[in-house]
Amino acid sequence: MSPMLVLGTTNQGKVRELLELLEPFGISCRSLAGLEAAVDVEETGATFAENAALKATQQAVALNSWVLAEDSGLVVPALGGAPGIHSARFSGATAGGDRGGIDERNNALLLERLAGRTRRDRAAHYACHAALAAPDGRIVAVAEGRCGGLIAEAPSGRGGFGYDPLFIVPEYQRTFGELAPAVKAVISHRGRAMRAILPALVRAVAATG
Ligand code: IMP
Repeated sequence: MSPMLVLGTTNQGKVRELLELLEPFGISCRSLAGLEAAVDVEETGATFAENAALKATQQAVALNSWVLAEDSGLVVPALGGAPGIHSARFSGATAGGDRGGIDERNNALLLERLAGRTRRDRAAHYACHAALAAPDGRIVAVAEGRCGGLIAEAPSGRGGFGYDPLFIVPEYQRTFGELAPAVKAVISHRGRAMRAILPALVRAVAATG
C-alpha cells in the first residue's frame, strides 16, 4: 500500500531527516519526487509559518492527498535575521533550479558576512515551522521547533546538510556536521517540530486508514 502522507518537499536532506523522524512512530510517508501532479509552490509568505502553510495547502490540493510541509531556515539576529526565510537561496537563485554547490555558496556567504564579528554576533538559531493539510487544502495542524547555536569560523564535519557544518551546538561543542544523525534528531528544530505535530499526524493516519 502506498503511503497516505506526502512530504511537501524534494530537498533530500529534509526528506532523509523527516523519514527518520516519522517512521519510528508508524507514520509512513513519501516525498514529492516522481509525483507528476506536484506543483512548484512560490514561497511568497513573509514568515516560515506562512510559507509552510502555502506549501502544504497547494500540494495537498494538487495531489488530493494529506501533505506535511515544513519551512525552515537559519536565523542570525546580528544579521537582522538573515538568511531566515531566504536560507535556501541566500547566495542567489541557481539557474534552472540547479542546487549543485548551493550549500557551499550559502555557507561561504554566511562566513563572509560574519567575518571579524564577535562570538556574541555569531549566535544563531534554526527554525522549523510545519503544517499539515488535508486533501481539500485545509490546514489541520501547525507546529514549530527551534534549536539554538553558534556559527563557527570554518566548516567542520560532513553530516547533515545546508548550514550544518557551520552550526555549533553549544551543549556538544560540535557542529551538526560532526554530530551523529540521532543526536540531531533529538535536539534539532525539525525533530522538535515533528514531535509537536505528531499527534495530528497519527490522527490523520488513523482517520484515513
Ligand atoms: P526551505 O526549503 O525553503 O524550507 O529552505 C530550507 C533551507 O534552510 C535549506 O535549504 C537550508 O539552507 C536551511 N536549513 C533548514 N534546515 C536545515 C538544517 O537542518 N540544516 C541545515 N540547513 C537547514
